[in-house]
Amino acid sequence: MNDLKHKKDHALVRRAKAVIPGTMYGHMSVQRRMPSGYPQFFERAEDCRLWDVDGNEYLDLMCAYGPMILGYGNPLVAEAAQRQSAKLETATGPAPVMVELAERLVEQVSHAEWALFVKNGNDATTTCMTIARAATRRKVILLAENAYHGSAPWCTPVQEGVVAGDRTHLSYYQYNNVESLFEAAARHKNDLAGILVSAFKHDARVDQEMPTPEFAKAVRRICDENEAALILDEVRAGLRLSLDASWSLLGIQPDLTAWGKALANGLSLSAVTGNENFRQAATSIFVTGSFWYQASPMAAALATLTLLEEAKAPQYLEKIGRQLRLGLSVQSQYHGVPIRQTGPVQMPMVLFDDDPELEKGFEFCLAALEQGVYLHPWHNWFLSLAHTSQTIEKVLEATNHAFEKLAQSR
Ligand code: PMP
Repeated sequence: MNDLKHKKDHALVRRAKAVIPGTMYGHMSVQRRMPSGYPQFFERAEDCRLWDVDGNEYLDLMCAYGPMILGYGNPLVAEAAQRQSAKLETATGPAPVMVELAERLVEQVSHAEWALFVKNGNDATTTCMTIARAATRRKVILLAENAYHGSAPWCTPVQEGVVAGDRTHLSYYQYNNVESLFEAAARHKNDLAGILVSAFKHDARVDQEMPTPEFAKAVRRICDENEAALILDEVRAGLRLSLDASWSLLGIQPDLTAWGKALANGLSLSAVTGNENFRQAATSIFVTGSFWYQASPMAAALATLTLLEEAKAPQYLEKIGRQLRLGLSVQSQYHGVPIRQTGPVQMPMVLFDDDPELEKGFEFCLAALEQGVYLHPWHNWFLSLAHTSQTIEKVLEATNHAFEKLAQSR
């Protein structure tokens, strides 16, 4: 990538290096996570377009890693948030919009009989576990190996700074492996508080997997037999596959659900919903945060949920997702570069065959970036209502070029 195209970005990265640990941390660090050539800093975002600080424009298929579902700067969401913000934001007590939003979630989500609001997805997953333990007076939570539930010490994928005590009372099964699930449950029979499970398997760097009906049923059965909590982590998948909890599509209801990311189209809000059996426990624990009651993200969430319903969002995303998957599949065959596309089409995951070090993925994504399309080589992508059929065509023009380049270079 042409250095001149990223002059301002490089200057900011140099300044950041001096004052921000590792220049950038977490999932936003392009230096440690992306092919070199990706910009670190952005100036502006609108619908599904991003402009980096040097003014280069990209069609964005990462949607802020999930939060953007209606389009950056959606005017109706922005207006709802601004109207609320002008009246009350973070104050000595919450605004009425909090009750309205809880009512809305209870109406929309089959298993939900109450809702509480937090900031990040990790607040939501952690709160679900605390509620499960309070309700059952037991300790162990089962979770899938390699599943991401946040960056707190109990779940961060990096072990640096984590001590064994942070992870006591956690035990692991393999996603979609019923036998491993029963084994893990049997090991902790008398101390099982809950099973934490992602809406589908969306671990980084590997193929995605939808939950098999047998697996989902087994999770429900073990929780019922042990009076433990089925905790669904919808933080990443929520609202893209279904406007209900997405295991409703399999006929399975969770007891507790962690929501986040897309809930307020990019404003800072996550949530926990739960059924009646867990209301008392949710009442008994103490969870809070200075910014958890901030009102404008709640107003934004109400507007977001209304717009998603009006647009039949999951079905729309499925339609454009199919268009993208089909296009990529045709291109991969035409250029003789085999890929694997797995999981739900609304959240595309593209990995290359014979690419253990992700070299092909890096080269492909970098070539697409040069054509103005922002993809990710080893994390799922996200579609939004701002992506139209024409957007997908433009994306496919870029990927066609990227496949061509990859075929020539090998
Ligand atoms: N659960 C899942 C499935 C996630 O994908 C994420 C974030 N990527 C989280 C939890 C944590 O959410 P947050 O980053 O908002 O804390």
